[in-house]
Amino acid sequence: MSDAAAEQGKTIKRRGVCFVISAPSGAGKSTIANALRASEPKLRHSVSVTTRQPRPGEKEGVHYHFRTMEQFEEMAAQNELLEWATVFGRGYGTPRGPVEEALNAGHDMVFDIDWQGHQQIRAALPDDVVSLFVLPPSLAELERRLHSRASDHPDEIARRMAAARDEISHWREFDHVVVNTELDRAIFEARAVLTAGRLLTRRQTGLAEFVHTFGA
Ligand code: 5GP
Repeated sequence: MSDAAAEQGKTIKRRGVCFVISAPSGAGKSTIANALRASEPKLRHSVSVTTRQPRPGEKEGVHYHFRTMEQFEEMAAQNELLEWATVFGRGYGTPRGPVEEALNAGHDMVFDIDWQGHQQIRAALPDDVVSLFVLPPSLAELERRLHSRASDHPDEIARRMAAARDEISHWREFDHVVVNTELDRAIFEARAVLTAGRLLTRRQTGLAEFVHTFGA
């Protein structure tokens, strides 16, 4: 390969990956997403809008954009949300603008959203989504993890346990699934899924030009 071709190989353009991670609350998806971002500072995180109250330590614009139900409904009505759903009686949604900007610029983005959001994002961006479902090792372990988080009220924990079965029933809709028995392994597997997603042939919008330099 000529130097020019090798140079071009390093700068092949591609669209960003929409890496959707879903799981029942407490299965560890936020921990996995945080670990991916910690090792790859360029990985973007889609900051959702929610109408729920902030938990201790959660910051506006970092963990969520906290809004009233009225503001949330206005955003949905103005088509400012790429997807939205009601989860645990509260509104959750993905702001559209940052997603479009990131994908077009070739930045990968992680989405911590539920199965309803996954279905909608997949329908809106079928070529961009790579999805992963995270299962807990057991329902008993899930409950133990929810209790150890201690930030949610017991009623909220009971509600999340009831919703867990419903969330888990959608696992087959996802491209990949990991069981989070051992966190390090689950992170390793999630990273492998993201890497494979980046290398999908259909994502390589700039590849034809590069392959041309091989005379093929
Ligand atoms: P939590 O209140 O624990 O932060 O999130 C509750 C649930 O809402 C989780 O399953 C989370 O993945 C989901 N969720 C968070 N943001 C969004 C969003 O923008 N859209 C959808 N559809 N679900 C979301």
